[in-house]
Amino acid sequence: MDFLDKYKYHKDDPSEFGIDLKEFKKNSNELDNSHLSNLLTNSVRVSKEILPKVGTAIETVFKRIKIENNFNFFVTADNNQANASCSLMSSASRPDIVLTSRLIELLSLEELQFVIGHEVAHFVYQHALYPNHNNVDDRNLKLNILNLSRAAEISADRIGFLACNSLEDSLRANFKLASGLSDKHFNFKPSTYLDQLRDLEDLGKSSTELWSTHPSFLIRMQSLIWFSMTKEYHEFFDNKKKGTYNLREIDEKLDIKIKKITGDELEISNKEIYEKALIWGSLDIYLSDKKFSKIEQNEFASRFGKKANKAISLLKMSSARDMLDKKIDISFTEASKLLKTEKDKLVEELKTVGKETGGDKMKKLKILGKLLNILGIKKPVSF
Ligand SMILES: [Zn+2]
Repeated sequence: MDFLDKYKYHKDDPSEFGIDLKEFKKNSNELDNSHLSNLLTNSVRVSKEILPKVGTAIETVFKRIKIENNFNFFVTADNNQANASCSLMSSASRPDIVLTSRLIELLSLEELQFVIGHEVAHFVYQHALYPNHNNVDDRNLKLNILNLSRAAEISADRIGFLACNSLEDSLRANFKLASGLSDKHFNFKPSTYLDQLRDLEDLGKSSTELWSTHPSFLIRMQSLIWFSMTKEYHEFFDNKKKGTYNLREIDEKLDIKIKKITGDELEISNKEIYEKALIWGSLDIYLSDKKFSKIEQNEFASRFGKKANKAISLLKMSSARDMLDKKIDISFTEASKLLKTEKDKLVEELKTVGKETGGDKMKKLKILGKLLNILGIKKPVSF
């Protein structure tokens, strides 16, 4: 199934949260049958005999995306919600996909293939192992997790698209799920939805989007339209067409579009956390020899500009060391929840500070080791 990895949206990257999916695949072998028994009691298990439409859609999906069907499919009575969900208790058990009756009533066979492919992707990409924003109090971390969660939906949509092999049906499925409307009520014109997306962009930022687990259907439709223009998509079906973009370019276009809708609140907050840790950590390194000469102070000021003055003035207080320790503890604990890329960058910058300041190298390395420890980075440090 790894051949599907290359279709992932690049922001759908759990390693940024310290999650190694390969480790999970190796270690998880506990079985939980209570979930399955609940489904068998209250839902209808899909077979081609009793549910030919759904059965055929499932069969087509697995043929198209070229993976083995080791899933349990169920239909559950729900006339209000058109949705589907994929749950897996562990990678050793069979994953279950549950479709609501309303979903099946609402969608055509092809649109259903999109939704099934989307749910299968959640299993293939092991999205169930991602951190849950509900279990986190830290606002910044919560927002970073929600970003990951929305990125996972973009990835799953791409597999949904490959599963139905039709842009129009993928878009229609998205539209129907967002509006709840069936065919008889709407004229399908993607350009009008893209107008709506532009209106949303013009508003600047949407905190609804920022706090959502799923991206707006407008973003998802735009993302699918771009995906249909990629070299990778055409290659998957051995189409003669070459495609206008490669996936990397589409991912970047999407980054820009998404940022316009979600705004830069999270980016600013990540940056503030990063900068606080950098300045207090650097000051600690400067003080490794318990001295802070005028030359060093000037150097520090030219490195950090205005913010340096505040840090330097703290040192004039009688309880300076205690205060600094507190600042370091708070700022590095916050920084420990940043994305891995950010933390790695922070460590590199601190190493540069260590390299360029005077004083005993061993003492500076010891301080760096302490800072990395708060960040949760276990590897040895040197410069
Ligand atoms: Zn989903």
